[in-house]
Amino acid sequence: MPRRVVVIGGGPSGMMAGGTAGSRGLDVLLIEKNNTLGKKLLLTGKGRCNFTNDTSLQGLIDNIPVNGRFLYSAFSKFSNKDLVKFFNNLGIKTKVERGGRVFPESDRARDILNALERYLRDNNVKIIRGEVKKILKDNSRVLGVALSDGRFIPSDSVIIATGGLSYPKTGSTGDGYRFAEELGHSIAPLKPSLVPLEVEESWVSKLQGLTLKNVSIRVINQSDREVYSDLGDMLFTHFGVSGPIILSASSHMRDIDKNRYRIIIDLKPGLTEEKLDRRIQRDFTKYSRRLFANSLGELLPKSLIPVIVELSGIPRDKYVNQITREERKRLVRLLKNLLITVSKFRPIEEAIVTSGGVNVSEINPSTMESKIVKGLFFAGEVIDVDGYTGGFNLQIAFSTGYVAGSSC
Ligand SMILES: Cc1cc2nc3c(=O)[nH]c(=O)nc-3n(C[C@H](O)[C@H](O)[C@H](O)COP(=O)(O)OP(=O)(O)OC[C@H]3O[C@@H](n4cnc5c(N)ncnc54)[C@H](O)[C@@H]3O)c2cc1C
Repeated sequence: MPRRVVVIGGGPSGMMAGGTAGSRGLDVLLIEKNNTLGKKLLLTGKGRCNFTNDTSLQGLIDNIPVNGRFLYSAFSKFSNKDLVKFFNNLGIKTKVERGGRVFPESDRARDILNALERYLRDNNVKIIRGEVKKILKDNSRVLGVALSDGRFIPSDSVIIATGGLSYPKTGSTGDGYRFAEELGHSIAPLKPSLVPLEVEESWVSKLQGLTLKNVSIRVINQSDREVYSDLGDMLFTHFGVSGPIILSASSHMRDIDKNRYRIIIDLKPGLTEEKLDRRIQRDFTKYSRRLFANSLGELLPKSLIPVIVELSGIPRDKYVNQITREERKRLVRLLKNLLITVSKFRPIEEAIVTSGGVNVSEINPSTMESKIVKGLFFAGEVIDVDGYTGGFNLQIAFSTGYVAGSSC
């Protein structure tokens, strides 16, 4: 009888772990509580699945701010290049976009999921629909898992691949943290990462739904130090701000509880202050007989105009030809330095990933096996590692899944 492995969770890390263990001839059972596998995977990269990043091994580690070094061995055993080759062998053509982001050429996360399901089938992995309630052990060795319907499934190894706490509707409800704790592991505090932000300024809610394209932002901490800068798109919401550059910025706000972060938005990053001033002078000459509030239509999106007019301190009903040089300069400075103050992160349920998780000092980095319980392995987001945007989080899931599946 081949040794039996139970994988808990049919996300990217669990599917990679299961298929890899199956390819070694082991008897693999993958248990998933949803009716379908990879629910969250289908949402990734806005449905296009940015599954890795075309960078060096050091580049991968540099983009994982929490415990990146722990992953050195896993990335060496199964790198981003190996992952691309893995999908190529399963018939997926890939492409590289801005910032090294790697996607399937078809732009369909569904194709990645289909390939992983094929990988499971080809390696005789049995899929069980069910919810694991508890992992059982004897002394310091796993015995198997108990399901919520009362079934007990004995096994020689168990791989916890249950994901984090974010987007719980996809099935990631943090069960793995509880299993790990019950078996004697410690859990580093769970916090949202890559998450929308709430802000103090009340004018922000007036801009709800507005997307700003190609703006630049700088994130400044309490000691006036710049901790992040980026160029791209952002979105105003009823509570604050979101969108790609804001989510990325959030993962650089490491001590949000103690620190007060400010974001300075440059609405016109393509123009220096001097050039922007000349541009505004041209508009003001053209619209010299209009009221100030009616003169900015060519410069700003409609919904932003009343907010900028108010923040500029220039009376909205002042005729453009009466605006002073000093007032115009103030407007230029405002457009290049629109300030918002972060009050807090949105809840973990709205985060792209969960920061924190099973303490890495209790996991063997070259096998992903628990140092506390024999036969217990971890893969994916349940571990206390998390990356920036750009495909790093899925690479973590696939590399740790591969290592767990190769070592169990
Ligand atoms: C909107 C969104 C977009 C994203 N885009 C990207 C991107 O483009 N690139 C990138 O790198 N990362 C992206 N991520 C992050 C990435 O999706 C996750 O890091 C990754 O899915 C983690 O994989 P995992 O296998 O560890 O966990 P999950 O994908 O969370 O899978 C865990 C699985 O375990 C199952 N499960 C949980 N508990 C039990 C239990 N008790 N019994 C049985 N089954 C259980 C769950 O139902 C689930 O199917 C995105 C995340 C979100 C929310």
